[in-house]
Amino acid sequence: MTEVLIIEDDRSIQNLLKIALKQEGYTVHTVSTALDGINFAVKHVVDIILLDLGLPDLDGLNVVNNIRSYNEKLPIIVVSARDNEEEKIKCLDAGVNDYVQKPFHSAELMARIRAILRYSVSVEGASESVFENGDLTIDFSSHSVLVKGDEVHLTNYEYKILCVLSQNLGKTLTHNFIISKVWGTGGNDSNGLRVFMAGLRRKIKSDPYSEELIRTDVGVGYRMNKMK
Ligand code: CA
Repeated sequence: MTEVLIIEDDRSIQNLLKIALKQEGYTVHTVSTALDGINFAVKHVVDIILLDLGLPDLDGLNVVNNIRSYNEKLPIIVVSARDNEEEKIKCLDAGVNDYVQKPFHSAELMARIRAILRYSVSVEGASESVFENGDLTIDFSSHSVLVKGDEVHLTNYEYKILCVLSQNLGKTLTHNFIISKVWGTGGNDSNGLRVFMAGLRRKIKSDPYSEELIRTDVGVGYRMNKMK
């Protein structure tokens, strides 16, 4: 499931984008102001952002700067009526992945989105990065997990759950989101997830009753907290 956030104050363009994106199978979220966009991106899982520049509260460039201050990878495509070169350069320098001019061709915009998502997925997959958070270390290249330097043996599903949580550090992930990422659609249910989560917590020593590494948001899902 790919989550697209549209930050756009023009209702008709919102609708146009929504229809085109839903046809492509994306899940679409829409906000109309820069601040709502900034808040949404912090609190939810978003795979790509379509951003207007002329927003009622702040210029869209503020959204880019805010998101880039904590996330260098999240793809952002500016969709704007502004056509001066200087504006485009400013956006690209700020870390925008692509700049599409209004009025746009839906089919072309969808192709650009696909291209950027393909690239961002391959970059993620290719990184041999090591994730560290408190006592926890995940080495993605060797699929190994360490707690205080000692290797922990996880099942394949436990490992996948841990990866999904760590890749969305600080964000609450719904049961359905985790299930779709780990098992694919129609793969498991919340009870099944709970069983795997209990096993995972036991192994990585994350107490379910404290504000530790993995937090339960009752009725919603789970979140990995950033540890010191
Ligand atoms: Ca606008």
